[in-house]
Amino acid sequence: MAQVAISKVAKAFGTVKVLHEVSVDIADGQFVVLVGPSGCGKSTLLRMVAGLETVSGGTIAIGDRVVNHLPPAKRDIAMVFQNYALYPHKTVEQNMAFALKLRKTDPAVVAERVKRAADILDLNPYLKRYPRQLSGGQRQRVAMGRAIVRNPQVFLFDEPLSNLDAKLRVQMRTEIKELHQRLKTTTIYVTHDQIEAMTMADKIVVMRDGRIEQVGAPLELFDRPANLFVAGFIGSPS
Ligand code: ADP
Ligand code: MG
Repeated sequence: MAQVAISKVAKAFGTVKVLHEVSVDIADGQFVVLVGPSGCGKSTLLRMVAGLETVSGGTIAIGDRVVNHLPPAKRDIAMVFQNYALYPHKTVEQNMAFALKLRKTDPAVVAERVKRAADILDLNPYLKRYPRQLSGGQRQRVAMGRAIVRNPQVFLFDEPLSNLDAKLRVQMRTEIKELHQRLKTTTIYVTHDQIEAMTMADKIVVMRDGRIEQVGAPLELFDRPANLFVAGFIGSPS
């Protein structure tokens, strides 16, 4: 586990500034949700933590290392995306093992980590299946399994539930929270869904147009919104 310190991080694409000196501190083991309307810069910020986008200004530290110039593979993070990105021609087991095999991990360790992830996520009955033979929820669990087997310091989620139907979304919210309670891995979770933010976060970061409007615990934001935008955004169901 590790703390994550995002300090005055800015991002411009060409001449267009999409993030303006954003700072967020995430404590070791905390579950932080970045929430805000589409286009406000949530994914860009998360991708910079992952190392998938360069930083235009400021610093990002994971644990006690500034990671601005480290490639994604050296950052000790694992990211779960909205569209799963599972390998269609690999089984569930192979999908989970693949990233470890790429890193030349000892086969005994690979087997042990895959087994542990399958136990945690209830995937044991599906290990020999291919992604097309799974439901949406099961695929999302495999995507989480791939993240878990890497034993990362930090989990990054980018709208992982937005392709699921409403009922499954509620169930997966609970599963992701239970996973966090079990593993206590520092987590940054991006969503545009206020209910997801309110029910999952230890701490919510409300963003708008590349800036942070307010940071606080769910009830703090609900009871004492800093402005009308936060009040409207947190107060109204999606
Ligand atoms: P969110 O995830 O909150 O919906 P994004 O981080 O995806 O927002 O995007 C923030 C802004 O940056 C948007 O205006 C988007 O169009 C712009 N943007 C994102 N990626 C790129 C890119 N590769 N090139 C140019 N503009 C981009
Ligand atoms: Mg996004």
